Amino acid sequence: MEMHEQQLRLDGNAAAGMFEDLFVHDVTSARGACAACGAVGEMGAQHLYMTPLSPGAVLRCTSCGGILMVIVHAGGRFRLALQGLVWLEMQDAAVAGSG
Ligand SMILES: [Zn+2]
Repeated sequence: MEMHEQQLRLDGNAAAGMFEDLFVHDVTSARGACAACGAVGEMGAQHLYMTPLSPGAVLRCTSCGGILMVIVHAGGRFRLALQGLVWLEMQDAAVAGSG
């Protein structure tokens, strides 16, 4: 391993502060890019499919119908599968008030 890589690589726990800032947000206002068609839109504007009493929900792209996100809430845990999103972007709460 090169010296350069050793200096840049930290344990994932070093991202705790960023994760903390990230996961307090209202994800419905977050923008994301569909992996299937490239459309960019707010998560709250996409189509949600869920059956009453089902532990899971599927969020689909309004442009192409591709699966963006699967949310499962069962067994005391939430599982979030983001396989259909290239990226997800949220406003930084620290600058949201000033803009
Ligand atoms: Zn799409």
